[in-house]
Amino acid sequence: CGVFGIWGHQESAQLSYYGLHALQHRGQEGAGIVVTDGETLRPVKGEGLVNDVFNEEKLRAATGHAAIAHVRYPTAGGGGIENVQPLLFRSSTGTLAIAHNGNLVNANHLKQNLERSGSIFNSTSDTEVVIHLIKKSSHSPFRAKVKNALSLLKGAFSLLILTKDMMIVARDRNGLRPLALGRLGDAWVVASETCAFDLIGAEFVRDVQPGELLYITKNGLEVDSIIEEQHPRAMCAMEYVYFARPDSNIDGVNVHMARKRMGRELARECGSIEADVVTGVPDSSLSSAIGFAEESGIPYELGLIKNRYVGRTFIQPTQELRERGVKMKLSPVVQVVKGKRVVMVDDSIVRGTTSRRIVRMLKEAGAAEVHVMITSPPMTNPCFYGIDTSTPEQLIAASHNVEEIREAIEADTLTFLTPEGMVRATARPFNDADGGLCMACFTGKYPTEIYSDTVLPHEK
Ligand code: 5GP
Ligand code: SF4
Ligand code: MG
Repeated sequence: CGVFGIWGHQESAQLSYYGLHALQHRGQEGAGIVVTDGETLRPVKGEGLVNDVFNEEKLRAATGHAAIAHVRYPTAGGGGIENVQPLLFRSSTGTLAIAHNGNLVNANHLKQNLERSGSIFNSTSDTEVVIHLIKKSSHSPFRAKVKNALSLLKGAFSLLILTKDMMIVARDRNGLRPLALGRLGDAWVVASETCAFDLIGAEFVRDVQPGELLYITKNGLEVDSIIEEQHPRAMCAMEYVYFARPDSNIDGVNVHMARKRMGRELARECGSIEADVVTGVPDSSLSSAIGFAEESGIPYELGLIKNRYVGRTFIQPTQELRERGVKMKLSPVVQVVKGKRVVMVDDSIVRGTTSRRIVRMLKEAGAAEVHVMITSPPMTNPCFYGIDTSTPEQLIAASHNVEEIREAIEADTLTFLTPEGMVRATARPFNDADGGLCMACFTGKYPTEIYSDTVLPHEK
């Protein structure tokens, strides 16, 4: 998912709409904006792409000086309009809206306790847990309730809460999902990725820190913390590999440059390779293919073209549709690959379906050899923090070694980036283990506890 917030601007709805456009790659299932004018919170939301959900009339009707907004990633918590965020809750103590990116690992546990004490849930999303915890908190005043509720959450969250006169910004203790703070004139802006600031002409101020809690009101910005002690940083490595947009910077590291370095690392790690052209799978692997070409001296070429009007593969719900989706999405440039030994760089192998399709497509277009280079290590473990890498049974690397995967995807050779190469390539400016990256899906070292009732997002 992607979140966006703005405080102190008369065109808050319009700017949120632009912000969501920049974050569209983070979620295509639904989008929403909730605006406050100091008295009332007004939601505008719907299923589908940002362009389908909003129009000028709806945005003009949502007047106010502050807003929070959200684009929804396909699988977390199931579909349906009731799961499209921001979620809005009316109660005697005031109205609240909440927008969340990430997945909580103790949501089930918290939910059971809440239901036992009378809370009724309207959605299947674990985000609603946060609202009930705030309402039920015995602490006072309101800020203490929020802090108390957030301190009970385990897992990944970059979240925004809007009341009629305050915007609250918070990030989990490990900083699993990105969140950045910026300014647009006198207004404060917050976004999952810095590319949203560039689009609206806002200035980047800093990343919201792990465990940080910000209150933004008419009196300005106040900094607080959810937790007492420091925890190891664990930014999702897949944000750099696949999820984030190349023009975004996460913790000061540009995503495009990190991907280029991943490509360079792979070229070094795979040893000498005889090939004629290097090509990347659009869009996520163009940067790394350029890096691979630079390091190996093999020319970069545009061997695959993406039909940009088809959504990401993962949106297609069934395997059959997914397989059909891959074909609709990519086409080979026959002139480039025919008779050539092709290096194909891609970001990750989850089920292996995509890679096999692309290898076949390149061979059908006449490629003499296809050497597959993956800019992440084999994905052997599921993600509990909000990226749907599917169940362990579906992860090909959980049950197959590299040679078996090579055979399954019908490639001539297959190389994965090592975890060490990944850490070097991202080059994050921290001394924490692995440069403060989460790499649990590759290493099995989860930065948080995982509970017996922790469920994967798509199992809800
Ligand atoms: P699969 O191996 O499952 O057929 O497909 C993996 C490809 O799906 C990756 O190369 C990536 O580009 C794309 N993809 C789409 N959504 C996701 C996601 O949420 N996580 C990962 N790791 N890859 C995804
Ligand atoms: Fe990212 Fe993998 Fe960690 Fe999930 S387990 S947060 S996908 S690095
Ligand atoms: Mg891909």
